[in-house]
Amino acid sequence: MAAMLIYDNIYLEHDTGPHPENQQRLISTCEHLKTTGMWNQLLIKKPRKASEEELLLVHTARHCEIVKTASLRGGGYLDPDTVVSKKSYEAALFAAGGVLTAIDSIVKKDSVNAFCMVRPPGHHATSDRAMGFCLFNNAAIGARYAQKKHGMDKIAIFDWDVHHGNGTQDIFYEDPSVLYFSIHRFPFYPGSGETDETGAGKGKGFTINKPFYYGTTRDDMLKKTSGVLTKQFREFKPDLIIISAGFDGYKNDPVGGMGLEIEDYKKMTRMAVEAANECCEGRMVSTLEGGYDLHGLPLCIEAHLKSMNEV
Ligand SMILES: [Zn+2]
Repeated sequence: MAAMLIYDNIYLEHDTGPHPENQQRLISTCEHLKTTGMWNQLLIKKPRKASEEELLLVHTARHCEIVKTASLRGGGYLDPDTVVSKKSYEAALFAAGGVLTAIDSIVKKDSVNAFCMVRPPGHHATSDRAMGFCLFNNAAIGARYAQKKHGMDKIAIFDWDVHHGNGTQDIFYEDPSVLYFSIHRFPFYPGSGETDETGAGKGKGFTINKPFYYGTTRDDMLKKTSGVLTKQFREFKPDLIIISAGFDGYKNDPVGGMGLEIEDYKKMTRMAVEAANECCEGRMVSTLEGGYDLHGLPLCIEAHLKSMNEV
């Protein structure tokens, strides 16, 4: 069964101006996927819009209002890195909605897995704050939605963006029903993600951080990643795996850069696919986070999709 690709040109309307997280990321990737013929091998689907109620699954009403108002007034900066334009709120609703569309499609068995090629990204957004280019936490909203709407008990999130997904970790820190696993460069933005951050209360043990320091080899990174996916993920037995797929760990990335090669994204996808096959009949939804090298990003995404397609 072909992998599903969720995409709509509405994602180009989130106008960030001269900013690494800009429209060209998706324009270049679409062009590349079409030129290589990859586009035709996928099940292409348009996202729906998330409702305001669905944003409230993980965000405070105040946060939603701040983003909406700033955007509808014409835009501005929500934090030193995070800018919105007039259409950003609309694009953000479709970004979160893209993940929800993917989850609904997988439950209906239209496809076994899906990649949501969305922007703005989400994993830095906390319940009450936009930060690090992120407005709403697409992956977290998806996890809660899968539980509430489709009665899935346990969701595992694998975040391989080069930055730690502080927002996602924060939202589920005391929740044993969502396993959050992140690999990331450290010390690095946003500063969180040390090994001893493992959850709290009932959620103790359900947050796993693998920070990688300067000089860590790719082999070591892949080995540690594979260890968690084969042990903790299989023990947890999720009903769905969500990937926060940032490609800014790629060696040429101007923002992150952790020395990763294109084939490493293929390998990590494979590991996630295998865990999903074993735990949840292959159900996996991946959503785009970072990745700012306009030449490398399309190649990394192509590798990711190829690996998802080989189920
Ligand atoms: Zn990132």
